[in-house]
Amino acid sequence: MREVRGFAHYPTVTLTIALPWFRGRRVPPADRSQARFTRVLKSAVAGTRYAREYDRGADGYAQLPRVDLLEFLCHTERYAVANQKVPRERLFYPLGEAPRTAVVARRVEETRRVRRFSGLRAEGLAAYGPHVLAAPLDALRAARAEPVAHPPLRNALIVFTGVLEGPLTPQDSDDLWRRYQVPVFEQFLGMDGELLAWECEVHHGLHVRESAAHFEGAEGDRLLVSFLANPRLPVLRLETGLTGRLVSEPCPCGDSAPRLVDMRRRTVRRATSVMAMAATA
Ligand SMILES: [Zn+2]
Repeated sequence: MREVRGFAHYPTVTLTIALPWFRGRRVPPADRSQARFTRVLKSAVAGTRYAREYDRGADGYAQLPRVDLLEFLCHTERYAVANQKVPRERLFYPLGEAPRTAVVARRVEETRRVRRFSGLRAEGLAAYGPHVLAAPLDALRAARAEPVAHPPLRNALIVFTGVLEGPLTPQDSDDLWRRYQVPVFEQFLGMDGELLAWECEVHHGLHVRESAAHFEGAEGDRLLVSFLANPRLPVLRLETGLTGRLVSEPCPCGDSAPRLVDMRRRTVRRATSVMAMAATA
């Protein structure tokens, strides 16, 4: 009886101490996301040509016009803020702390266990003996016909995708699994290599990194993206040329961020013309 009473009092004491701490720190996710939207809109209007006409006081994405992908790729300078640099990120490893990892062709911060290399056949990569390889989808596709140039991986293969490369296809996943024999994790990057969405060990969609990206679903499952953490490119509502669905049901991994599922290119012809136009711009 005494024990029960003691137990009943315990939470009251804890709450009295904990409440002021929570009150000070908890910002509702909707407010955080609103604050990010306002900040990016302000910086777009103040620093770029494309957003000069925008309403500074807009308080939602739906009030702003969309940015066409082809126009964006051909005239990126209209969307860029001069003299702004993108801070270098650390590699995000989806399974905790990264084991010995080789990152190919992406400007990430190097750490004791994470080293950068210029290509899959770069000098020193084989000798480094990475347990994890992280590389762009294009580079991995291009290397498909050649033998693997380093010892077998032990933990994972991280594949960088993005608007230009398009998402990982089921065919890519099969090929990469056969070739590297380790679990494959996709990471969807923004225009300057910033992480926008990532795959967890459940492998059902990509968790949106809400501090860096806002994805919107539009008609015909089209996906729009706003870059929220790229001071050089404060672009709102870019048409990605991709389709997909946003799912907000909780993921078994425990991460509550919404997920992008069934991402694919809208049409192959459009993707090819976008790449061709971007290359000649
Ligand atoms: Zn998950």
